[in-house]
Amino acid sequence: MAKLPIVAIVGRPNVGKSTLFNRLVGKRVALVDDRPGVTRDRREGTAVLLGMEFKIIDTAGVEDEDPDTLPGRMRMQTQNAVREADVALFLIDARAGIVPQDEEIARWLRSEDTPVILMANKAEGKAAESGVLEAYSLGFDTPMPFSAEHGDGLVDLFEALRPHIEFDGFDDVVDEPEEDEESGPLKLAIVGRPNAGKSTLVNRILGEERMITGPEAGITRDSIAIDWEWTAPDGQVRPVRLIDTAGLRKKAKVQDKLEKLSAADAMHAVDFAEVVVLLLDATLGLEAQDLRIADQVLQEGRALIIALNKWDVAENPPSLFQGVRFALEEGLAQVRGVPLLTISAETGRGMDQLIQAAFDVREAWSKRVSTGVLNRWFEKAVEINPPPAPGGRRIKLRYLTQAKTRPPGFILFGTRVDQLPESYKRYLMNGIRKDLGFGAVPIRLTVRAPR
Ligand code: GDP
Ligand code: GDP
Repeated sequence: MAKLPIVAIVGRPNVGKSTLFNRLVGKRVALVDDRPGVTRDRREGTAVLLGMEFKIIDTAGVEDEDPDTLPGRMRMQTQNAVREADVALFLIDARAGIVPQDEEIARWLRSEDTPVILMANKAEGKAAESGVLEAYSLGFDTPMPFSAEHGDGLVDLFEALRPHIEFDGFDDVVDEPEEDEESGPLKLAIVGRPNAGKSTLVNRILGEERMITGPEAGITRDSIAIDWEWTAPDGQVRPVRLIDTAGLRKKAKVQDKLEKLSAADAMHAVDFAEVVVLLLDATLGLEAQDLRIADQVLQEGRALIIALNKWDVAENPPSLFQGVRFALEEGLAQVRGVPLLTISAETGRGMDQLIQAAFDVREAWSKRVSTGVLNRWFEKAVEINPPPAPGGRRIKLRYLTQAKTRPPGFILFGTRVDQLPESYKRYLMNGIRKDLGFGAVPIRLTVRAPR
């Protein structure tokens, strides 16, 4: 097993270091001699915080020495611990405010290379507010209000530690690192039944825009990528990479072959896409097969847009639109509100709106909300609609954190969460989409017990 990362707790006596240590380590620490007067130089244990594991060192045990100076022996112990550590947690007592000893420790920590997270402990209640503000004067990042005794702020601590601690606890939801993909080309795929108008659409958008490189073969056996630039109505030029499946531009001579290819081939294109446009023939409406494709796209975690093509020859447009909208809400109940656009690949109607919508959904798909915003929303959502109590035993929901983007993935921590009904998860997911600006992008929610 890989070596655990190391976290050191530092701070003057009585700020709550041992309390924090005990909270993080629980019963897993070897018994220490807690008799008064017995000096403990340091304690070590394995901490588990919301599934993240690390070794923690508590530098305590100098209470008997002169509190007005930083005793030499403590400095040595603390120094060693901090130099060993990947990150240091610097605790102050927010109720007592900043005292000279805190400033002394801060000055020393600033000269060390170990990253520091400043925690304003004992921050429960109003008495601590000014102390939290005072802590800014120590010159570290925003002090984190915390209560070791009450366990408030564990999620913030978790978030603050994450950049410093290599952590594979999200294996099931985290995939490849997120580079600056948002500024990269929009990866777009167009799928739909034969004759929906896919090749006409591709020709239309490529015909209007400047292609910046020729088709590149080989993304999959039967698809290629075409890079081009879209000029938005406001004049902004944005790169787009169209994943073009076999024969989309160049219609195959043998229609049969194309139709055989299209289903599997379309799903290859979906693999590479960020946003998928499902094209429907407005003269035919929405059929079960379209819903299956849509469902599959969402299951793959891709952002979806549905475009009703051939709008130029649609009969009774308003009722047609309403009918398709209704059928979508019924058929794709897991993701309400997928964008539905009307276009004509033949006349060019709705082209800019279509590409703009694709950029918009990609943005929602790549979006990240802060843990603070998320949990303020979460507390209300749980208050309005508390989780059920299967068999009379309460499910306690504690925190929600966004573990990933593209598509957005969330982890819900709590006790007995394995018994949380799907309907309740859907309630939360729908709320996240609606209230936190994720629109109709597919999001994932996994549940986990804190320990
Ligand atoms: P250490 O000397 O830094 O290890 O501090 P301790 O963990 O021994 O805590 C010192 C005192 O502060 C104890 O009486 C704790 O119960 C108390 N304490 C620790 N954390 C909190 C907290 O979050 N809120 C409040 N109000 N008291 C706390
Ligand atoms: P694909 O099989 O999905 O690639 O569909 P095609 O692009 O080959 O189009 C199938 C047929 O629909 C062709 O005859 C097109 O001319 C026609 N078509 C495509 N888009 C439109 C449109 O917006 N309006 C009308 N009226 N016909 C269209």
